[in-house]
Amino acid sequence: MQIDFLHLGRVNAPYAAAFREAIDRVLRSGYYILGQETLAFEQEFARYCGVRHCIGVANGLDALHLILRGYGIGAGDEVIVPANTFIATWLAVSLVGARIVPVEPDDARWNIDPKRIEEAITPRTRAIMPVHLYGMPADMDAIREIARRHGLRVIEDAAQAHGALYRGRRAGSLGDAAGFSFYPGKNLGALGDGGAITTDDDELAERLRKLRNYGSSVKYQHDMEGMNSRLDEIQSAVLRVKLAHLDADNAARAAAAARYREALAGTPVELIGLPDGAESVWHLFVVRAPRRDALRDFLAERGVGTQIHYPVPCHRQEAFAREAWPALPVTERLQAEILSLPMSPILGADEVAYVAAQVKAFFA
Ligand SMILES: *Cc1c(COP(=O)(O)O)cnc(C)c1O
Repeated sequence: MQIDFLHLGRVNAPYAAAFREAIDRVLRSGYYILGQETLAFEQEFARYCGVRHCIGVANGLDALHLILRGYGIGAGDEVIVPANTFIATWLAVSLVGARIVPVEPDDARWNIDPKRIEEAITPRTRAIMPVHLYGMPADMDAIREIARRHGLRVIEDAAQAHGALYRGRRAGSLGDAAGFSFYPGKNLGALGDGGAITTDDDELAERLRKLRNYGSSVKYQHDMEGMNSRLDEIQSAVLRVKLAHLDADNAARAAAAARYREALAGTPVELIGLPDGAESVWHLFVVRAPRRDALRDFLAERGVGTQIHYPVPCHRQEAFAREAWPALPVTERLQAEILSLPMSPILGADEVAYVAAQVKAFFA
């Protein structure tokens, strides 16, 4: 059996006819940037997330970067981020000139440990940027309580968590503002780059609508030094098609995850915790495994594609070599043990069973 880690052509195949119709509609409209499709998608995604505003932007990194700029966070400020995350979370902070303050993960979610956040706060701290890692909401009650006590913004990196629920509320509505990515491999993925910001903050939303569009809301009138970071009409039209199926896609991922968990229970493979009140959308199915690299090779020989998210932690990347980071032993141990098994809305029960059987064969 051959099981790709993720085959986007197959994931998107069921939508081919709907995509063609949507793209044709854009073509005929004559509007390709900030037209009716983007406006409609912004309204639909805001409603889906349960917030008043959605601002479409060019990608997930820009979404996070623009939120920080929108809040005036920059040089001299500090932002708390998870040590275990994709590099974009860190880059959003360094792009505005603020200082990155990484915090180690916990044992339950393998994500930012709220118990370690307070000791990282200084008089310069302006915001906490939790990531809903692998699709599982971060421990938001604890994080929001710390932020409230210290007067900090909470900016969600929701790039892996479209549709995830925390105490009945969607990712994207759990902090002051949230950044989403619609990179093709995400749960809500476009056919190219895309991103969005969601927020209930009216003032921030107004500023962001200008910041993404040359600082302008009236043509050729520029109120601030903005950027060009816009979600385009074609991607918006494609995303509207996929948004209508997001809950069904996430349910299919959850079913695959439940099958994996049942099949892998009792093996040397460690499964991620399922905290009360949080519902993951299983962007990735990540396990911790002894002899991870040998397991990965074994699976590859048996046709199973896997990935490591992420093989080199941010603080060990050449890009961030300029700074003397604190020791981050929990993150480094995690990085040596994690393995992402195939996961997508089209992963069949037989495929999950096959992958799990190979994992068991390796440890037998
Ligand atoms: C994908 C991702 C991003 C960045 O999204 P892009 O659209 O690729 O810029 C940010 N944070 C996390 C956690 C991600 O997984």
